[in-house]
Amino acid sequence: MFKELKLGNIAEGVSNVKQYLDLFGYLNSTLHSNFSDEFTLDLQSAIIKYQKNFNLKVTGQIDRKTYNIISQQRCGVPDIINGTTTMNMGNSNTTPFTPWWKAGKKVLSYAVHPQNNVSDSVKVLFREAFDRWSKVTLVNFTETASFNESDVRITFLELDGKGGTVGGADRNYSLGVGSVYLDSEEEWVVRGENEEGDVDLESVVMHMIGHLLGLGHSSVEEAVMYPIVLPEKKTELSYDDMQRIHQIYHVK
Ligand SMILES: [Zn+2]
Repeated sequence: MFKELKLGNIAEGVSNVKQYLDLFGYLNSTLHSNFSDEFTLDLQSAIIKYQKNFNLKVTGQIDRKTYNIISQQRCGVPDIINGTTTMNMGNSNTTPFTPWWKAGKKVLSYAVHPQNNVSDSVKVLFREAFDRWSKVTLVNFTETASFNESDVRITFLELDGKGGTVGGADRNYSLGVGSVYLDSEEEWVVRGENEEGDVDLESVVMHMIGHLLGLGHSSVEEAVMYPIVLPEKKTELSYDDMQRIHQIYHVK
């Protein structure tokens, strides 16, 4: 039985919600662990931001709909980074982005960690995902065998077990390297129908490449850049994704 929680309540599990909101940039807390089970004012303001970002009714409470979204699998990249968000609660449509790759480079190489030993069908999947983004950015990608010298490095590794975070992306400006992390403990689906709890690899890969190319999260559920993993496959760029990538690359 789900019970709504609001300011002043003390209940088991509130600390987990705080942990989640802290992880994804909503809680302005200096504390990053050992959260209490008390529904505090800063939790309330974090919940309000979260509800705005996910087009939920703004109640400031942990209600059922809010909790449903919190409990779904999602991208590990925060929604709010250093106080900035590209989701609803932000008021800027522009995404300032400086490429992390060496200036002037028009072709970026990518490789999957050799120990991950991915199948040919997974390689094709990556190829197609990169190609889809190339069309709207004119940044080209080519597969390489030398992982340690590649511009984009993709690794399957244990993150937080099945569920929770499915992966993340990181742009390292000093090394000039973009990284994609995928949780090896998810039930990844390469081709075919997803069963409950499965994660569609191509949809997540599309999302992570979007991060490498400069996009943050979107509040639009149909967008590739929506942070929550939905059961439906989502590999084609939505109107929202196209609008936002256009603001960075201006490809006609
Ligand atoms: Zn993401």
